[in-house]
Amino acid sequence: MKPRQLTRYLDDLGWCDPIEPPDEPEALPEPDPPSAGAVEGGAPEALDLEGLAASLADCTLCRLSEKRKKVVFGEGAARARVLFVGEGPGAEEDRTGRPFVGQAGKLLDRIILAMGMTRDDVYIANVVKCRPPGNRDPKDDEIAACSPFLDRQVELIRPEVIIALGRFAACRLTGTQKSLGALRGRWSRYKGVPLIATYHPAYLLRTPSDKRKVWDDLKLVLAKLAH
Ligand code: URA
Repeated sequence: MKPRQLTRYLDDLGWCDPIEPPDEPEALPEPDPPSAGAVEGGAPEALDLEGLAASLADCTLCRLSEKRKKVVFGEGAARARVLFVGEGPGAEEDRTGRPFVGQAGKLLDRIILAMGMTRDDVYIANVVKCRPPGNRDPKDDEIAACSPFLDRQVELIRPEVIIALGRFAACRLTGTQKSLGALRGRWSRYKGVPLIATYHPAYLLRTPSDKRKVWDDLKLVLAKLAH
């Protein structure tokens, strides 16, 4: 992206200093693996993302399968350097089968552009692959049922950085129940991959004043990718 375009994106997002990365904060310890007991037969062993998506297409491992229209597996570059992990599909994602295509998705697109990338460069997935009815929060057993699939996505993509969007993804991937305010702005690891938690774009739509904090988190990511 040309510098002028970048400046325009950042202005648009309310972000203004793309240059100076903040100091590297203290890292959180890597969590214990989440319990994924709900999956009969153990973790999926698909050899590629297509095979993994196919193994999920008719999934009935949890009650979310009863009301979903489409499984939202995730999409992007198979060897993306950056993996974004959101919470779960909303109505528009459920209808289209694609992650982050509603209002929050449009903001995520702009965030990715502000980072100097496009949707095709990154991978976008969710903690749960089917829409919780009425956009309720996913339940623990639903998250556990989907865990092996997210884990396999991480293993197959092997990104350089994972960005957890929002508290659900942050708690699932750090193995803690802390607030996002406590988790963001510092590195942890998931399956050996450096992980940053930051605010969910849907939250930013409601609280634009926190865009600044997201940009601070993303500067940590950009600094790591530059090394
Ligand atoms: N919010 C999410 O967490 N994921 C989506 O795919 C869409 C909205």
